[in-house]
Amino acid sequence: MNDGGHAENDRMLGRPRRPASSNTPVSVWKEKENVDGKIVDAGVVILRTSGCAHSINGGCTMCGYNIESQENIDTGDLLAQFNKASADMEGISFLKLYTSGSFLDEREIPADVRNHVLTWCKDRDSRLLFESRTEFVTEEMMDAVNGIHDDLEIAVGLESSNDKVLKYAINKNMTVADYDNAADIIKKAGAKLRAYVLLKPPFLTEAEAIEDAIATAKHAALKSDTISINPVNIQRGTLVERLWKNWAYRAPWLWSVVEVLNSCADVDRKVVCDPTGGGKERGAHNCGGCDSKILESIKEHSTSQKRSKIDGPVCSCRDLWEGVVELEGLIADGTCDLQRLFRQR
Ligand code: SF4
Ligand SMILES: [Zn+2]
Repeated sequence: MNDGGHAENDRMLGRPRRPASSNTPVSVWKEKENVDGKIVDAGVVILRTSGCAHSINGGCTMCGYNIESQENIDTGDLLAQFNKASADMEGISFLKLYTSGSFLDEREIPADVRNHVLTWCKDRDSRLLFESRTEFVTEEMMDAVNGIHDDLEIAVGLESSNDKVLKYAINKNMTVADYDNAADIIKKAGAKLRAYVLLKPPFLTEAEAIEDAIATAKHAALKSDTISINPVNIQRGTLVERLWKNWAYRAPWLWSVVEVLNSCADVDRKVVCDPTGGGKERGAHNCGGCDSKILESIKEHSTSQKRSKIDGPVCSCRDLWEGVVELEGLIADGTCDLQRLFRQR
């Protein structure tokens, strides 16, 4: 999975690679999380695995998580990684465990490792959040995990409620119907569902991206408990990075993030957003002058879950953003003079 990439981490944003060790997790940290209306200590663990099943077949256009993956990671390596990570996690009541793929894919996370993690959480009365692609969410699998620990939140990348966007812009290798089916299985099993909504897949204008993310969030609200709005960030080795280097892609504006969050104010679900690489060139950004203030407002909005709209600071770049949204739209629908000019040539 890729929460646009795991919103929590910016490890893929064109930074020099750290030496990888098969028995050391990619990253571990603690943070605050709003769980059922209470702010609690949460742990975040990113395990290094053999990688996402879909990534091996090409992967999604914005996902560079395969770079952190290693072939030949075995059960012993994964257990060693988790044991190192969990040593710092005593006292938490929420564990977010990411694998750069699917926790329910037995090729990536063998049953012994899965059961060890579930047991660790059960013994500590800690909710467990993990990610999975839809094809691994089956009734049999849900029975198996629920049999060990039943306080689960499962994050599934819906990304877009438009099958064409899923297919041609994201290459998700999944349909909206696949997502709906997995969501039903998760809900029937009594687990919580976190839906990932991607903001600004490639090949969409800024305005189309905003519209698509809002429609997707509304679709996600039908079955999920939490909606995570994930602005695309430019990860190494991806199609999105290639487009960006050729001036054919810009990460979304933070004003667009605010627009989507404000449009979700009436959605009766927890809506979270933590833009990876926010304020930087490879992440959602504005002019540089107002970015940190907007990011703070977005963070506060996610943690508090207040339904009020985000105002954002007064900054002249908002006019520029409005202009971009309008002009790109005119170019896209062919009513722009510039576009006519190009056609006449
Ligand atoms: S499903 Fe797509 S976004 Fe998720 S980890 Fe695999 S390649 Fe990345
Ligand atoms: Zn600005």
